[in-house]
Amino acid sequence: MGMTMIKIFDTTLRDGEQSPGVNLNQLEKLEIARQLERLRVDRIEAGFPASSKGDFEAVKAIAQTIKNSSVIGLSRAVQSDIEAAWEALRVAEEPCLHLFLATSPIHMKYKLKMTPEQVIETSVNMVKYAKKKFPFIEWSAEDASRSDLDFLARIIEKVIEAGANVINLPDTVGYTTPEEYGKMFRYIREHVPNIDQVALSCHCHDDLGMAVANSLAAIENGVTQVEGTINGIGERAGNAALEEVVIALKIRSDFYPYETNLKLDELKRTSDLVAKLTGMVVQPNKAVIGRNAYAHESGIHQDGVLKNAQTYEIITPELVGVHSNNLVLGKHSGRHAFKEKVVELGFTLSEEKLNQAFGQFKQLTDHKKEVTDEDLFTILMEIQTNANTVQKYQLEMIQVQYGSANIPTATVSVKTPEDKIVQTACTGNGSVEALYKTIAALITEETNLLDYQISSIGGGKDALAEAYVQVKVNGEIMNGRGTASDVLEASAHAYINAVNKYLIKQSSVVKEPTAIK
Ligand SMILES: [Zn+2]
Repeated sequence: MGMTMIKIFDTTLRDGEQSPGVNLNQLEKLEIARQLERLRVDRIEAGFPASSKGDFEAVKAIAQTIKNSSVIGLSRAVQSDIEAAWEALRVAEEPCLHLFLATSPIHMKYKLKMTPEQVIETSVNMVKYAKKKFPFIEWSAEDASRSDLDFLARIIEKVIEAGANVINLPDTVGYTTPEEYGKMFRYIREHVPNIDQVALSCHCHDDLGMAVANSLAAIENGVTQVEGTINGIGERAGNAALEEVVIALKIRSDFYPYETNLKLDELKRTSDLVAKLTGMVVQPNKAVIGRNAYAHESGIHQDGVLKNAQTYEIITPELVGVHSNNLVLGKHSGRHAFKEKVVELGFTLSEEKLNQAFGQFKQLTDHKKEVTDEDLFTILMEIQTNANTVQKYQLEMIQVQYGSANIPTATVSVKTPEDKIVQTACTGNGSVEALYKTIAALITEETNLLDYQISSIGGGKDALAEAYVQVKVNGEIMNGRGTASDVLEASAHAYINAVNKYLIKQSSVVKEPTAIK
């Protein structure tokens, strides 16, 4: 039996970016888009151009850069959104538009305040309007899984007539079950006469923990495009985790006669990049790419795996790009070896950024005998995505005094966005509290720490420290990250990074996006 090709539609940069606290700058979005292209996803949903100036510019930059995956932008069913999307996407190889309008009784009545007939009319008119510009249109029935099936069939037929190329039926609120979701697609295929002219797409949320199972059920019922995000990030409980969907299809190809275009050994790098840049840390027991997914702890399991890996290992780490033996660089590694490593790790740096990276690498070798791939990955990623377009805060110096019998005291000096050096000292119940109180006293924005996590990159006592924080900045939740040889310095960087992300966001906001699926 032949294998059916399933297209992968990644919405990490749109639906994933709607996770609380996640605010990616343009360079960060570009870096993720480049990685998604390396992973060979079929479509990249780059953002919602009408929502803000920042989103518009990011979608445009991605549309200009990415050539091997098609780039798609989200739009409400209104002319001004379609216009904005066109301005951002017209430079793309194949400009693609993702139009949506809700079809469930509850959304039509309370959110849209439209009758079902008005929803049909608007959808048809907007698809026709968009089709004058865009060669490719995906139309989504928001909250499809809670919509009336007869009504869905009726509106889909009309939207196809108007020119849509893909019909997406999302489970917007994560409410459906695999059997029910599969049935919906079966019904639509049986009751929409022109359904063969389009591809069907699924889009699942994980509120009941069934997003991946629901996506697989959709595939079994004729869907040929799956939407989701890397690491399953997204609004509320998140979206279907794409790495789980594609690995399930691969490992159980005996059961699922489907294939994808994905380069599976790029999954780990993609996951790492998304986790670090969004600050949404992956749980250790996460399927497919969690830190523990390939660790065998119990004696009986270890013994079995040593005798034959397949006894307890259904996925090999190599399949998803997890490598344990990475060649390390050290104090005596030269520029040439460093440059080769940069390429091997998948980065394309300008000469200026390469020099900067080499400098940081040399500095690091003063503290650390062996610099691992993971260390370098973090350094390179930070240099690559550092936005210099906005005046930001810069950490100049920290000094923390701690003793179990003393009151912890921190002294910090910071360069402000106005280029002034300010310094102060505060005490706290612990070193981190003292440090954060001091930083908060130096910056003008109102800040409030919500979450704080510290971990090490790789192992060993000289490992780099990586800090993640969630800070409320002037009422907005922002994630920040920081890396340094020292835990406190990494913590200080993370806090300032969250505030800087707020400044970057402020500089690009035109209007707040309305709530979308
Ligand atoms: Zn969604």
